[in-house]
Amino acid sequence: MPIANAEALLDGINRWVAIESKSDDLTGITRMIEAAAADFLAAGMDVEAIPGRDGCGPHFLAAAPWSDERPGVLVLCHLDTVHPSGALELNPIRTEGDRAYGPGVYDMKGCVFIALQAAAGLIAEQQTTPLPLRFLVVSDEEIGSPTSRTIIETEADRAKYVLVVEPARNGGKVVTARKGSARMVLSARGKPAHSGVHHSDGESAILEIARQISDLEAMTNYDRGTTVNVGFIQGGTGVNVVPEHCSVEIDLRMTEPEDGESLIERIRALTPYNPAVSLTVEGGLNRPPYRKSNSISSLFEHAKGLASELGIDLVDTFTGGGSDGNFTASRAPTLDGMGVDGAGAHTLDEHLFVSSLVPRMRLLRRMFETLE
Ligand SMILES: [Zn+2]
Repeated sequence: MPIANAEALLDGINRWVAIESKSDDLTGITRMIEAAAADFLAAGMDVEAIPGRDGCGPHFLAAAPWSDERPGVLVLCHLDTVHPSGALELNPIRTEGDRAYGPGVYDMKGCVFIALQAAAGLIAEQQTTPLPLRFLVVSDEEIGSPTSRTIIETEADRAKYVLVVEPARNGGKVVTARKGSARMVLSARGKPAHSGVHHSDGESAILEIARQISDLEAMTNYDRGTTVNVGFIQGGTGVNVVPEHCSVEIDLRMTEPEDGESLIERIRALTPYNPAVSLTVEGGLNRPPYRKSNSISSLFEHAKGLASELGIDLVDTFTGGGSDGNFTASRAPTLDGMGVDGAGAHTLDEHLFVSSLVPRMRLLRRMFETLE
């Protein structure tokens, strides 16, 4: 029987939250994906397992039984979390008023569960949708989707619309634009020397990197929506040695695709202040910017109309955070943040709002029923 009330939805969600599934916890994430695949199968969906590789967990595709080869609606989900095993003890499964707590409950196990139940309701009532309805559930989103990215792109290419059921933002907002991101590593190699005996023979890699950091950070341009953050640094071997090695990790975010290219070019072209020190640069674009195109605006307006019939005033927003929606937005009209409302994603205060479960499930079902 399809689940239609908040209490029963929460029971199902909590069953998933009880399976800890950090992206790199292979045992946990595999158990989670297998449990979810079994629930999709039990709901009457056709399930195709995709084995894990490169140390990441498996993924799966699920299709409503009426789906054919036409371009359809792709519902994009992930079931990995950022929480290491043991987080359940620090943020135990519990309900306090309208808040249901637990690691991954909001980002995004609760969201995937209500999306599944929206489809399960249609199947149980022998309803169909105008378009094929497919789900892709992945296990590596929180680490940048290294093994699912090509699958996501392939599925987005054969989709007419993509609904990313990432959690809703403050007050139930859906997402129609996200910044793109790049990760780079800048390393310097100098010449080591005894700091007391031969200081002048040394060429300091730390000094070189220190100079480069102010140039890197100065590339931030809030007006353009680009940020450059040097977030991690390591170097040196001891306080009495002129350091031979130093490196930094850099996180770049951009609103405009061309800004991503040019920032990456500028960083690749950095030259050392001290010619006796060499620089190397690795990395590049991770997620391209997700821009609100006209077709994305129309898809949002469609969702807004359906939401208003359900008494929801749907508002859209832009976020600097990335998601798998960044990979699909340029391939098919994509609406993100279609999941449940709540707060505290990626923290031990993570919770969803129980009152959002049924309305958001209904909204998803109306989207499935009306997209054509
Ligand atoms: Zn997420």
